[in-house]
Amino acid sequence: MPQSAAHPRGAGPENRIIRLIQGTQGAGVEVFNFALYPEGEEMVRYNQTAPDACVTHFSSAEVWQAGSALGVIQEFASKIHPEDLEDVSAYIQLHYSRAEHGLVEGATEKFSSERFRGLREDGSWGWYEIRSRLYHLPSGLVITEGVFTEVTELMRLLLIDDLTQLGNRKALERRLGSLNRRTTAEPLELINIDLDDFKSINDSLGQDFGDLVIAETARIVRDHLPDQAALYRLEADEFLVVLSPNPSAAADPAHPGSSALEIARHLQRAISSGFQQHTSLALHLTACCGIAGSTTGCSDARLLIQQANTALWRAKQERSANICVYSDAISTEIQSRLELKRTIDHALRSGELDLHYQPQVDQAGRWISAEALLRWHKSDGTSIGPDAFIPIAEQTGQIRMLDHWVLDRTCADLACWTRQGLTPPRLAINLSSVELERLHGEHSLAVRIQAICARHGVSLDLLTLELTETAIVKDWQEAVTQLQPLVDAGVEVAIDDFGTGYSSLKLLQLLPIHKIKLDKSFVRTLPHSTNDHRIVAGSIQMAQNLGLRVVAEGVESPAQWQCLQALGCDAYQGHLFSQPLSAATFCQRLQGQISPVPAASS
Ligand code: C2E
Ligand code: CA
Ligand code: CA
Repeated sequence: MPQSAAHPRGAGPENRIIRLIQGTQGAGVEVFNFALYPEGEEMVRYNQTAPDACVTHFSSAEVWQAGSALGVIQEFASKIHPEDLEDVSAYIQLHYSRAEHGLVEGATEKFSSERFRGLREDGSWGWYEIRSRLYHLPSGLVITEGVFTEVTELMRLLLIDDLTQLGNRKALERRLGSLNRRTTAEPLELINIDLDDFKSINDSLGQDFGDLVIAETARIVRDHLPDQAALYRLEADEFLVVLSPNPSAAADPAHPGSSALEIARHLQRAISSGFQQHTSLALHLTACCGIAGSTTGCSDARLLIQQANTALWRAKQERSANICVYSDAISTEIQSRLELKRTIDHALRSGELDLHYQPQVDQAGRWISAEALLRWHKSDGTSIGPDAFIPIAEQTGQIRMLDHWVLDRTCADLACWTRQGLTPPRLAINLSSVELERLHGEHSLAVRIQAICARHGVSLDLLTLELTETAIVKDWQEAVTQLQPLVDAGVEVAIDDFGTGYSSLKLLQLLPIHKIKLDKSFVRTLPHSTNDHRIVAGSIQMAQNLGLRVVAEGVESPAQWQCLQALGCDAYQGHLFSQPLSAATFCQRLQGQISPVPAASS
């Protein structure tokens, strides 16, 4: 640090400042050298007379005359940025302890270094690097020698984000690293902020516009933060606020409330109204926040960043403009999801997946069709049901691979049975709603399914696709576009879990569908529940008026079957007729021909 006004160079005896190297080693380089330990007469004498003793501006004349190394250091510390003080004092303490314990007489140690912010002459903060080492004089004195180098420009490049002039992730890590080393336990809270749907702004309006939005967001957030909070830009549109440790925030009248939650809400409002009222960037923009905090200080600040990030991820999963506060429950949930995602990948690769086929029967109990149901047998002997992993595979995008695997496997089985001279029935496959998304060309549903069937030499009229009401209702026009070519080629379409969604009569007329599958929740209460009886009767009548067939799911008792038969249901599926069967068992039953299933015939 250059000499401060309070202690002009030359104050005190001439020999106190022997050298201030400038120019030769580059501007802003200072060399120092003084006795550190043990304190006493000899140290004072050394510091005042030693020809190679160099001191820097930070030592006041009084401190220097007293010869107290501690005083020199305290004086030096008073010009260090408060956020870096912890780091520098840890550095100095290490020096001291080595001076006392570690250094052998006559030995010189290697240089060690630390970077910190120090006060410049003009009162602004500059970055400095201290490099120093110790040596042990035969007299018993321990001397520290070193250099200060100004590294402001280098650190600016390293730690400051060009676009927003905020600290970047490295700067945050530095800051949290020093918070980690705090010895006092003060509350620390982090708010992770991320704009909603920023990617589409970037994609549709261009990256330059996206940059303006980010810079403006940084400005708005900075203007609305409480005094001692620090703001960092982590990446793209993601920011992090460190609210630490700031006991006076509560009393700050300019900021409503003191808690991180209230500050986060305040920032969200500031962002959305800031952009709405912006003259050139008028946008409807919202942000999600994830909050993590520790009231007892934090022994691992990195963990706290991770927690804030996890909370942010969770908030975004639910909806835009959301806030989520981290809790252990969220972490457990995410951990088990991640674990499941990893194991789904593994299952796909290592052959732990299997398909079972559950027969569907007609009014007389004859097999007319079967539904392919996914099974996952883990290597440890346990099984996981599709209801446990399909929703997760839908969220992670792994569902496309699973659906592909099921289709491929079903076609392979159909081809295998046909080669054996058997006549397999039409097989139904469950398709996830993502399969109806707007994809064209080689990625369209029709092209993909046709390719798999062609590869196995299987005719498309051996397949039924089961889709839920919600999948179809989401974008029914797209559903028609995707399904029509398949229906034209002989595929049948069934609406699964009928009655649990919101498909309208009108929609049923517009869609290329052949049957509805009555959800098992309505079948379960038959024949006793008059309400479900009415719903089932009404659904069957409506479907048949539209020329659709009705399959009842989850038929477990003869009474249920009889009731459904009386209502004119076309087909039945359930444990009463058969459990889902392995491909091998299904094949054996096919060889015995399609006879009434044992349970139904009794
Ligand atoms: P879903 O499409 O409604 O399948 C029918 C479910 O009812 C199956 O459960 C079946 O085992 C069960 N079930 C059959 N008969 C009876 C019965 O008499 N009583 C009762 N209580 N249940 C019966 P599963 O195999 O556990 O499958 C659950 C869900 O997982 C399926 O519901 C389907 O939505 C999904 N799923 C299964 N396989 C696949 C697949 O290959 N791809 C996709 N995308 N989803 C699948
Ligand atoms: Ca189904
Ligand atoms: Ca179903």
